[in-house]
Amino acid sequence: MKIDLHCHSYYSDGQLSPSELIDRAHNMQVDTLALTDHDTVAGVQEMIDYQAQQKRAMHLVPGVELSTGWHGFDIHVLGLGVDHHNQRFLQRLELQSQTRQQRAVKIEDKLQKCGIQGVFQQAKVYAGKGQITRAHFARAMVSLRCVKDADEAFKKYLGKGKKAHVSPDWIAPQTAVEWIHDAGGQAVLAHPGHYDMTAKWLRRLVEEFSAMGGDGIEVSHGHLAKPKQLLIEQLAREWDLAASVGSDFHFPGRWTELGKSHPVPAGLTPVWNQLLSD
Ligand code: AMP
Ligand code: MN
Ligand code: MN
Ligand code: MN
Repeated sequence: MKIDLHCHSYYSDGQLSPSELIDRAHNMQVDTLALTDHDTVAGVQEMIDYQAQQKRAMHLVPGVELSTGWHGFDIHVLGLGVDHHNQRFLQRLELQSQTRQQRAVKIEDKLQKCGIQGVFQQAKVYAGKGQITRAHFARAMVSLRCVKDADEAFKKYLGKGKKAHVSPDWIAPQTAVEWIHDAGGQAVLAHPGHYDMTAKWLRRLVEEFSAMGGDGIEVSHGHLAKPKQLLIEQLAREWDLAASVGSDFHFPGRWTELGKSHPVPAGLTPVWNQLLSD
């Protein structure tokens, strides 16, 4: 079984369409795939419709990655198995979308104060009909030759505490968990190893996430140093969180690939036991 419960399409900052993602996942022999765009489920139906035409044996999980704020950190919470037609959920996602648009205007303001023009306009072109993200700003800054690559855009301008950083007015993780549960999904703490925080803060985050009713945690996501990997597995056991795996694939390249993940270690309950039985 090859499972990937975290990836992005061009409805947020991924670069493939939902159909292209399905084709790629099929080629990578993925048999269970969740689409988890940033703060939107706009690509989910397209994925389901395409899959129905292809008549391939691949299980699809409607998903989302909600942006939240917690003690100054940007924390991402995945909603897996959400009802993408749930009207209340869609209205709530619309609020997140507005937060994104308001932040984008403020980022543009700050960039202009740094003497950099036209980034928002180009970022909007890249975002197309999808959610506007900092990844689009970074791409625009590269194409306008303000920076040499996206990493430099984050390090100099868009990252936390940098020249054009705007502290977003995201919902709390608790709210994300409630929204996901109301929409019939499971709430999973995304990429716990990628937050720029000490082990002490991470312990606190996982403890609080469990206490607020969170269901799972990503135990395999990209490249993690062994001690951090072990800490995350231990926290999952300690706080009785189901284990999720996801590539966080955004576009074809050297860094990540659909279906690329490590097996769930013994003693942890895979989150898809629940999802596939629903
Ligand atoms: P946002 O959700 O709008 O704050 O944008 C965050 C997105 O930017 C993440 O989901 C990543 O896809 C991307 N990102 C974050 N840090 C970096 C980085 N250092 N280099 C390239 N992309 C990044
Ligand atoms: Mn992203
Ligand atoms: Mn994320
Ligand atoms: Mn992601």
